[in-house]
Amino acid sequence: MKDLQKELNERKAAHLYRSRRISDGPQQPEMKIDGQSVINFCSNDYLGLANHKEVKQTFIEGVKTYGAGSGAAHLVNGHSKAHHALEEELAEFTGYPRALLFSTGYMANLGLAQALVGKGDSILEDRLNHASLIDGGLLSGARFQRYAHNDVEQLEQKLGNAKGETLVLTDGVFSMDGDIANIPSISNACKQHEAWLMVDDAHGFGVLGEHGQGSLEHFQLTQNDVPIYMATLGKALGTSGAFIAGSEALIETLIQKARPYIYTTATPPAVAEATRASLRLIQTRPELREQLNDNIQYFRNSAEQAGIDLTDSQTAIQPVILGEEERALKFSQRLFENGLLVTAIRPPTIPKGTARLRITLSAAHTKSQINKLIKTLVSSTI
Ligand SMILES: *Cc1c(COP(=O)(O)O)cnc(C)c1O
Repeated sequence: MKDLQKELNERKAAHLYRSRRISDGPQQPEMKIDGQSVINFCSNDYLGLANHKEVKQTFIEGVKTYGAGSGAAHLVNGHSKAHHALEEELAEFTGYPRALLFSTGYMANLGLAQALVGKGDSILEDRLNHASLIDGGLLSGARFQRYAHNDVEQLEQKLGNAKGETLVLTDGVFSMDGDIANIPSISNACKQHEAWLMVDDAHGFGVLGEHGQGSLEHFQLTQNDVPIYMATLGKALGTSGAFIAGSEALIETLIQKARPYIYTTATPPAVAEATRASLRLIQTRPELREQLNDNIQYFRNSAEQAGIDLTDSQTAIQPVILGEEERALKFSQRLFENGLLVTAIRPPTIPKGTARLRITLSAAHTKSQINKLIKTLVSSTI
């Protein structure tokens, strides 16, 4: 048996040790973390829906109607009217024939890859894809290759040599960098080589595009360009879970074959009800997106004036790249001491030498909270 404690100690020495902080109260800009009041700049709750009055009220009503839990997997008797209605509404909103709910985004990505490809097939992924896409690709048994970040030329080369059914997977908005994938060119390449394309829009769904339909709307693309669309419900929608949208045959295939769909308990129906309320807000309250975009612009302008080095991300994810793990960690600790919660992201989540503060903005942040962030970033420089 190996010495686990020794491994843990090595991790600590390399500044790669991870630990959890305990929050008390709802997800919102002002939070209590480990007993300390902080302003939170690291949540994916981009529109402030996790603690929205209407979403919470609908959740409560959902519990009254359906109880606390779903009781079983979707294929046993856990698939409620609430889940079904949400699937229909997601399909309509995204413009796909059908949508299928998964309990988490991680599981959706494992299930999709494994249902579509296997031994003798090929998977191509952007180097900076989310871990769940990478893991899904590796577990599928297909030949797994990565292409350089957003490098469509390299993708085309690899598509030319790919064997069997080929599946291309990309984040829509890259989760640690905030930049948007070049989906129009990726889509053209996939069409030319008759490859499947799935866009994981965990950070675009609900926030990008005029109607919040996500990165496809941002580029004016449809299901003809991207046959498989995946998004999560625990970020902009503020609840939990994920879905895959696609053709009738794709969704039926997932129901038959995606093991992380089949062998897991359905999320509580009340969560589906709450998510339906979030989806309604996304459609009826465009000012939430306007507020978020306004905050992104305000942050970027103020940071620039203050001499803070930003990337060219135009989304709610605004990384400040620091390089060394220790530096990012110390910076984050100093911010915390000053009442700001910004997590340090370190390898293996991101490539070595690119440790960073991952700042995320929300529609719920006020200008004065953003001012405080900028001021503290400047005065804490390490
Ligand atoms: C968060 C995230 C996931 C995982 O979704 P969960 O519902 O949290 O499991 C998948 N892909 C991307 C790009 C993500 O950011």
